Amino acid sequence: MAASGHPSITPRDSVSTLVSRWPLLGQRRPLVVYLVGIAAVDIAAIAGFATATEFRLADAVTFAALMACGVACVEATRRLGVPAGVSRDLLSAWWLPVALLLPPLYALLAPIVMQVLLQWRVRATVLHRRVVTAAAIGLAGCAASVAFHWLVSEPWLVSGPSALSRGESGAIALAVAAAVVFALLNTALIAVAAHTADPELPWREVLWDRESVLLDVVELCLGVSVAVATSLNLALLIIALPPVVLLQRSLLHAQLQAAARTDPKTGLLNAAAWQREADTEIVRARRTGETLALLIIDIDHFKRVNDRHGHLVGDQVLAGVATTLRTQLRDYDVVGRFGGEEFVVLLPGADLHEARQVAERLRNRISHMAVAADDAMITVTVSAGVAIMSVHGDDLIELLAAADLALYRAKELGRDRICIPAVQPPPPQIPEAPPAA
Ligand code: GH3
Ligand code: MG
Ligand code: MG
Repeated sequence: MAASGHPSITPRDSVSTLVSRWPLLGQRRPLVVYLVGIAAVDIAAIAGFATATEFRLADAVTFAALMACGVACVEATRRLGVPAGVSRDLLSAWWLPVALLLPPLYALLAPIVMQVLLQWRVRATVLHRRVVTAAAIGLAGCAASVAFHWLVSEPWLVSGPSALSRGESGAIALAVAAAVVFALLNTALIAVAAHTADPELPWREVLWDRESVLLDVVELCLGVSVAVATSLNLALLIIALPPVVLLQRSLLHAQLQAAARTDPKTGLLNAAAWQREADTEIVRARRTGETLALLIIDIDHFKRVNDRHGHLVGDQVLAGVATTLRTQLRDYDVVGRFGGEEFVVLLPGADLHEARQVAERLRNRISHMAVAADDAMITVTVSAGVAIMSVHGDDLIELLAAADLALYRAKELGRDRICIPAVQPPPPQIPEAPPAA
């Protein structure tokens, strides 16, 4: 009421104020429903298991010791910083043993402890991201815990609940199976959130990534080893901690290096990294005599999108265009954000015909892409300039200059089109004067 009575506050202002205070409200509706759903299931599971779990001091001590290791891990790496966006850690090394050795309630509580610590000590990020991460890990851990405890109580499988501490092969196999359940469920819950946030993102990209599968395997091995060690003797955690900390530090270091090459808004290469990679490709093409094409792609009238719908929506359009570029191009094409609403693509091996075809396909796909804003579906068009190695330039600077000129022409001719540079005709040959008699 007060807002509508204030002459300087429009409904748009109040919506954006609310969104800046509660970023969850700025997300797509299906995503909000999904995130709230996961959090609700997590809370219900905590309430359910809390009433059904009998308190035992030994469980509480094991839980505290494993959480202390997690805290030590976070504290030992927090000064390195964290890469923006989704980052990976090795904290499963501590909550997998929680799931395997303690009642399922503790598997639900462990990620809450760690997410509170990460929010407080490492990086204060939007709250709903922390809540959903805690809920996804908690539910995955709880399912793994329930499955493991149920199976180890089956006498035809292992000799009893303490089989893990006796190093029985059957119990270790069950622990590995529970860890696989944990990794699959956690990945699935997060992948559905990522796909709901951006339906353009192909499932393959959110589910399957060689690097993250390798990390899942490392986490599984660490988690099961720490669980076996902990079940033997809690003091063995002192021996397990240093190697996990070291691994966590090197993982973070690798992620920070990768982040330094990436544009955080679009996930594409940033301008400096793109130039380095493009230079390498150009040197290779010169050496092998292969063709190569360069595209500069610029969103048409992007300022209007910002002016009408705000910068946040503008950013979503940038991310959408980047996803379309990534999904439409081959793995070895080099795609980057050059700055603002300009993208650059290097197509190794492409001649003029192929480069025009690719550019047309990209233009077409982007013009069919729609980004949902609060009151409309936003579509944009792009213009692009194409330059070919050896035809329009011999090095990166010349190719960029030629493609930029072509882009300028595309804008002048009315936008939403692809242009190639007007090649300067070779200077006329002046016939040699006949030798004077
Ligand atoms: P043209 O068709 O001639 O390219 O027009 P245009 O409006 O796209 O180009 P102009 O250069 O006039 O405006 C570019 C706009 O891009 C202005 C700037 O605010 C916006 N922009 C640059 N970087 C970002 C960003 O990271 N996020 C958002 N939302 N907007 C950005
Ligand atoms: Mg533009
Ligand atoms: Mg521009």
